[in-house]
Amino acid sequence: MYIIMDKQQIKEALLKLSSSERSALLSEVESEQDIHSKVLAKHREQLNNKQGCCPHCGNNKYRKHGIDKGSQRYKCKRCGRTFTEYTGTWMARLHKKDLVGKYLKLMEQELSLDKIKVQLGINKKTAFDWRHKILSGFQQTDKGSFEGITESDDTFFRFSEKGSRDLDRKPRKRGGVVTKRGISDQLVAVIVTADRGTQTDLTVTRRGRIKKADIAQAIGDRISQQTILCSDSHASYKGFAIDNNLEHHALRSDLGQRVSNGIYHIQHVNAIDSRLKQWLRGRFGGVSTKYLQKYLNWFRAKELLKQSTHFIRDFTDKSLQDIAAINHYKATQHNFEKLCILQR
Ligand SMILES: [Zn+2]
Repeated sequence: MYIIMDKQQIKEALLKLSSSERSALLSEVESEQDIHSKVLAKHREQLNNKQGCCPHCGNNKYRKHGIDKGSQRYKCKRCGRTFTEYTGTWMARLHKKDLVGKYLKLMEQELSLDKIKVQLGINKKTAFDWRHKILSGFQQTDKGSFEGITESDDTFFRFSEKGSRDLDRKPRKRGGVVTKRGISDQLVAVIVTADRGTQTDLTVTRRGRIKKADIAQAIGDRISQQTILCSDSHASYKGFAIDNNLEHHALRSDLGQRVSNGIYHIQHVNAIDSRLKQWLRGRFGGVSTKYLQKYLNWFRAKELLKQSTHFIRDFTDKSLQDIAAINHYKATQHNFEKLCILQR
């Protein structure tokens, strides 16, 4: 039986709880309903305090320029284009914004699209699009430079041309685990890089064996003179280290060498790789190549926020910081087409 309470009765019921029960309940309610509004309010405040920048050209000089559908609008002093706190983020032009908080909560629980569809009363395509828009907000977020010993290795996923209709179905052969033996065009290479601090990178590169240009593209702008590279003895890594004048420790895994001098190894990235594959297999039954990078972003966000005491708030905050997220989202098809064409 449901008991319908008016506002006064709810207030009385709340006051009967202990203060810790009350604040736990309130924060639960808040995190479901309102988390994105709070995050956006913070971003708006940053923009109002002139701490933001124009999402079109990156310039930090702009002024207030009227109101757009309830949002403060700003005008860039360099390119002359206007923007709001949504522009460039994954929330740009999103309909049903009032459902975003609930959606994020369900996403945190890693519910299937079918369950999300039912719980929110939205269609599956919307649930799918939102997932990938949100994950596009992690393409650039928190990518600092690699410091000290930095491990890097390539890993492979089965190439799947079925890209357009990947709605959590469980096909037999998708994104399966493969070994390095027999690398072919039917495999997609992902470069996994991590330093011994908090910096990680997971980048989809190409079909078949990686080249040094792929390494450069994945992590080239994140290395510094403090980076000490550890990898296997693959020629691409040697070439990349020489080009960048990096101290490089190449392990001869073909000769059974796993550690050199007690500290140089690639066991952390190999552990990340196996956790990643386990998660993709267990949660999604593998994913299609077209959306693989988005799931890598998701996994990187999870790793990044492992210590977070308020995951959903931090996840939302970080994803909305990326004012190029919507461009990353729009590039999904183009990037996939590039992978479909074999690069030699
Ligand atoms: Zn501008």
